[in-house]
Amino acid sequence: MPSYKVAIVGAGPAGYFAAQALQNLHTDDLKFAIDMIERLPTPWGLVRSGVAPDHPKIKTVSKVFEKVANEPGFRLFANVELGTDVTIEQLQQNYDAVVIATGSALGKKLGIPGEDLPGSMSAATFVPWYNAHPDFNDEAIDLTSETAVVIGAGNVAMDVARMLALDPAELDPTDTADHAIDALKQSSVRTVVISARRGPEHAAFTSPELRELPKLEHTNVVISKFDVEAAIVRAGEAIEKDTKSNLDAMLLIADREPTSHDRTMKFQFLATPKEIKGEGRVEEVVFQKTGSDETFSIKCGLVITAIGYEATPLQGVPYEKGKVVNVDGRVKENIYVVGWAKRGPSGVIGTNKSDAAEVMKLLIEDLGTPKNSGDLVDVITHNKVVSQQHWQAINEAEIAAGEPVGKPRRKAVTREELLKLGRI
Ligand SMILES: Cc1cc2nc3c(=O)[nH]c(=O)nc-3n(C[C@H](O)[C@H](O)[C@H](O)COP(=O)(O)OP(=O)(O)OC[C@H]3O[C@@H](n4cnc5c(N)ncnc54)[C@H](O)[C@@H]3O)c2cc1C
Repeated sequence: MPSYKVAIVGAGPAGYFAAQALQNLHTDDLKFAIDMIERLPTPWGLVRSGVAPDHPKIKTVSKVFEKVANEPGFRLFANVELGTDVTIEQLQQNYDAVVIATGSALGKKLGIPGEDLPGSMSAATFVPWYNAHPDFNDEAIDLTSETAVVIGAGNVAMDVARMLALDPAELDPTDTADHAIDALKQSSVRTVVISARRGPEHAAFTSPELRELPKLEHTNVVISKFDVEAAIVRAGEAIEKDTKSNLDAMLLIADREPTSHDRTMKFQFLATPKEIKGEGRVEEVVFQKTGSDETFSIKCGLVITAIGYEATPLQGVPYEKGKVVNVDGRVKENIYVVGWAKRGPSGVIGTNKSDAAEVMKLLIEDLGTPKNSGDLVDVITHNKVVSQQHWQAINEAEIAAGEPVGKPRRKAVTREELLKLGRI
């Protein structure tokens, strides 16, 4: 009975869905031993460190991941980084196939003057900070100004704007990092401008997220009716279903009476950021009205860009334009790629499922005679590997710590704390 060894690098949705696809193909004649390698001491990728804490239902997909992890033949090697603790060559030698599922975690840049001033950062820094990603706990987020500007027109921009604009007490029953709740409770930010280069008809927000905004209990959400009506005219009769649904959702917001809340989230369209100005820190953003020469500026102390992500290049893996170079998920020899590292930062969690299943079919087509090779345990030189059992101890400890304070979990924030919870 052929039994193949597959290494999956990255314990995010794409990695788990790839593992699940292989497990679903188990037969009496075909078996896979799956080792999942993850650089953090915790698995689940952006489901833990990206998805907004006020959207707990979305995180229930982690139940699927845990089911996959508890199937026979699956081992977790967390706190093990490809490129540091293990090389791609070692994986190629030890496994019949290697699946790269490392996502894309680098924030794209605007490329405008002043972007590197203190007070200007990417959502790729701000989001993991509030989600207790151990690499971002020490970020100094300056929340002392009255106005913050979020640049981008997708759901990540909306998550960021919402986190800044909602009443932080609303975060108490969530798994937001304690340090972020504390900082947001001290925040002076009262107006958050979410700014898009193009018109409402081109925004990449999805309508369920837009329709949820009027439910914010302590935040005024402002969209100009003029902007939406002009977009409806521009979109014309051949308007796509999703665009129409978005514009309808925006009209509902635009039609609402303004409330007396002191927190405001305001949408701005057709504004191209040209420069971020300030003496030693952010003081204003200069915009050009898209399609004209007219400029205007917004005084603010915080600018967060949410304009997309790029994959981190991995040594020995071909890389171009922010992604791993691939043809339908095939990279080279016995290497494959799935998820955001393959496609770039698009699609919801579920998109990674069908995508990974397609790539795993190709992987199986390519399999030859099983290798009789060594074990990853002998390759990794440090003794702080987080196994599935260790992770279960961390997971249970975090959930138990959250229970008395009404949170789904209280996240540990440093690697040391996480390892301690795992009794490592
Ligand atoms: C801020 C944000 C909010 C989102 N919200 C939603 C939402 O509400 N609903 C929704 O459906 N989708 C949402 N998404 C999209 C969703 O998170 C992605 O579709 C999905 O996470 C992509 O999966 P992935 O496995 O490719 O990448 P990731 O989830 O990023 O997982 C990659 C994993 O690889 C690990 N890794 C990286 N490099 C290495 C290395 N060298 N060695 C070992 N491990 C490594 C990382 O630590 C990480 O755990 C959101 C995305 C973002 C950025």
